[in-house]
Amino acid sequence: MAAGVAVDTRHWIGGRRVASARTFPDHSPIDSSLLAEVARGGAEEAAAAVTAALAAFPAWAATSREDRARVLHAIADGVEKRIEELAAVETADNGALLRSHLRGVMPRVAQNFRFFADWLLTIDRDDFETRGHSNHISWDPAGVCALITPWNAPLMLATWKIAPALAAGNTVVLKPAEWSPLTASLLADIAAAAGLPAGVLNVVQGYGEEVGAALVSDPRVARIGFTGSVPTARHIAGAAAANLVPVSLELGGKSPLLVFADCDLDLAVELAVEQYDNAGQVCLAGTRLLVESSVAEEFTRRFVARASALRQGDPREEATDIGPNIHPEHLARVDGFVRRALAAGARAVIGGGPHSELGGLYYRPTLLTDVAPDAEIVTEEVFGPVLTLQTFDTEEEAVALANSTRFGLAATVVTSDVARADRVTGQLVAGTVWVNCFFVRDLRAPFGGARQSGVGREGGDWSFDFYCDIKNTVTAPKGWQHR
Ligand code: NAD
Repeated sequence: MAAGVAVDTRHWIGGRRVASARTFPDHSPIDSSLLAEVARGGAEEAAAAVTAALAAFPAWAATSREDRARVLHAIADGVEKRIEELAAVETADNGALLRSHLRGVMPRVAQNFRFFADWLLTIDRDDFETRGHSNHISWDPAGVCALITPWNAPLMLATWKIAPALAAGNTVVLKPAEWSPLTASLLADIAAAAGLPAGVLNVVQGYGEEVGAALVSDPRVARIGFTGSVPTARHIAGAAAANLVPVSLELGGKSPLLVFADCDLDLAVELAVEQYDNAGQVCLAGTRLLVESSVAEEFTRRFVARASALRQGDPREEATDIGPNIHPEHLARVDGFVRRALAAGARAVIGGGPHSELGGLYYRPTLLTDVAPDAEIVTEEVFGPVLTLQTFDTEEEAVALANSTRFGLAATVVTSDVARADRVTGQLVAGTVWVNCFFVRDLRAPFGGARQSGVGREGGDWSFDFYCDIKNTVTAPKGWQHR
């Protein structure tokens, strides 16, 4: 049992709790208190979990779609019943706002299961004929799916993969991030109570280089689903290549937010300030503000006024807008980016360092100007509450700046000119483009990144296509004479 929270932090393998000889400490980013000593798995636990998932696969794969959908809805019910507990544990563990967890994230966790349970019943295609022969397409479960997830939205991102993998009839081994491991353990309990058979969902805890690397290298794994950073993705893709296993990679971003002079400037400011959500630890965040020169001064004035009103502090308090960053190591990394940018000539319009009055892991919302287009702060993902502002004079220049990094996860365009929106969105390299809005996500839509922001798409059919072996069965008509 965890020290600071009521969570069993041993692994969950084959329907039972399994301890490791070693543990690792899990601290809260809110006040650095010790939340839990968590099982520190390695190659042995990874192999045991794959063995359990493999043993459970034939029976789960053979259940009807309707039965699988029923169990997934029961898991969603279980999540909804325990929303307050899940939200409180997640906030303690990763420092994101409690109100967001209660009203946005945890309802979405339940929705992940409901959505894929229902979508499963729609994935059939009509049969078609070739010279009288019928073609029947089926989505067969692939086998054991190894899922590796990050800490910034732990349960939401894990269930975004777990739900389609299970719905499709696969079994799963999840390795959550070591900086926020707790809610995955709770999910294992919820799934078991909902009637998910032993071994269908397994959770192994520990460090990426230890249990994670062993898991993705296991030749018995049929699919690898990963959300995380580009450097880790290279290791994962290497392991997938060695075993020729399909891999889905949802990676980082450095998304642009383009503000054209013809836009509703208050809307642009509102959308820009939103990029500080979750203390900037959002893969989709539009951290590069690209503003048309003629409105840059006024935009900056209004942005500073709005951003200065944000309340930073304890994420459990309703009035808080920005909580802490996840970990001392991460905070130092964020600060390192800002220090180097300032040394290179950038100017901090607001922020520019840790929040010394709050102490701990709080970093001031920061806006940097006077940044070169090829500066590190403009081209590398910071993953903290740090935005840059660059200006442009023409649409072509705006598009060129927007497309100038190695990432391509998302982009936001703020303009009142419909024709311009059409022209610009058509030229942006990004998996998701928002026009006059941000973070509107429908689970039916494809989600993923261009360039180094990822490989593959998730959501709706795209998830099922990835987590299934798609088969075409061609049947000759009765009485067909084969030459
Ligand atoms: P990370 O790459 O450090 O870790 C992600 C996961 O990989 C963790 O569970 C970690 O333990 C595991 N891991 C590390 N090394 C491994 C190895 N060698 N083999 C197997 N597993 C290993 O990423 P992070 O710091 O946890 O998350 C932040 C990153 O995730 C950012 O780049 C962010 O943009 C990205 N992200 C992307 C999306 C998306 O949907 N595109 C969503 C959220 C976060």
